[in-house]
Amino acid sequence: MALPASRPVPRPGVLDIEAYVPGKSSAPAGVKLHKLSSNETPLGPSPKAIAAYGNLAGKLELYPDGSATKLREAIAGRYGLDANRIVCGTGSDELLQLITKVYLGDGDEGVFTEHGFLVYKIAILAAGGKPVIVPETNLTADIDAILAAVTPRTKIVFLANPNNPTGTYLPFDEVKRLQAGLPPHVLLVLDAAYAEYVRRNDYASGLELVATSENVVMTRTFSKIYGLANLRLGWAYGPAHIIDALNRTRGPFNVNGAAIEAGVAAIADEAHIASAIEHNDKWLAWTTAELEKLGLIVTPSVGNFLLIHFPAAAGKTAKEADAFLSQRGLILRSVASYGLPDALRMTIGSEEANRLVVAALAEFLGKAA
Ligand SMILES: *Cc1c(COP(=O)(O)O)cnc(C)c1O
Repeated sequence: MALPASRPVPRPGVLDIEAYVPGKSSAPAGVKLHKLSSNETPLGPSPKAIAAYGNLAGKLELYPDGSATKLREAIAGRYGLDANRIVCGTGSDELLQLITKVYLGDGDEGVFTEHGFLVYKIAILAAGGKPVIVPETNLTADIDAILAAVTPRTKIVFLANPNNPTGTYLPFDEVKRLQAGLPPHVLLVLDAAYAEYVRRNDYASGLELVATSENVVMTRTFSKIYGLANLRLGWAYGPAHIIDALNRTRGPFNVNGAAIEAGVAAIADEAHIASAIEHNDKWLAWTTAELEKLGLIVTPSVGNFLLIHFPAAAGKTAKEADAFLSQRGLILRSVASYGLPDALRMTIGSEEANRLVVAALAEFLGKAA
């Protein structure tokens, strides 16, 4: 028999985790910072959400409503859902971790795609499971490849739609085909963090699929279009049996009161959301076109960010472009950890930031702007 370890040892898998590296957020001294590394909104949150947040300052000694009832009802009203089938969390990140912990155990397999969101891998390893990484086609999830990767040990399939960092998406028909092809005991997690930004007739976040299936759960966030990333607020919508399991295992006060109040106000401010969509439509198209004029390859995106591909030639690489832009306070995201060493991800920013990136890249590539 092995001797006991001389100190506490994490469970298998934990030390295989490469900790998530957030987007950089600093610029050289004296240079204006344009943080385009974390897909935050350049419009900020609704002013009504900021006011609601401030109103909580006089009640910090009170525990929040542990069921976030007001917020679940606001979400349900906005999207036409049953509030009892919603659970809120400290960002969708917490919910992704919780779902994994609840449905996947030692040695079980969790499936996600080649350039999928790295939180899935972390969650699977933290639960003692085995990450199964499926190849993509044209930087897009491939349903047939995902289905082919399912084994008797598969417990969860994660799909970000649209995906980060590629910005690509699957039409709703494809998502339905995925669900139809999965064994009924395999949980399909649809991560729709960017759903509000998508403007495609063949796209749907999949709320309808969740409503009519027993093995699909969706995660959503207030961090992106709602501009509340700093408050850490997300929600999951699922079948009653899944919501019940998540409610049993979550922390009893996992969402703070300020987040609840701000979330309720943010979701009601439809004009602010419309402005965010309008800004993104305009500048996503403009920035894509301008970068293409510089000879760069840009993956067509339906989100609020772009994946920009750089040449391999010395002096023009993604790494060098990143350093060049950073010097000017333009902070993009390296995506080498996503298997994309020759690309950078740029969040669509303010008009000023977008124009500065295009001008700086023209200079970097030695082209007249
Ligand atoms: C940003 C993002 C989220 C949101 O995470 P939060 O924890 O809610 O801030 C979830 N999934 C993907 C793919 C994302 O890019």
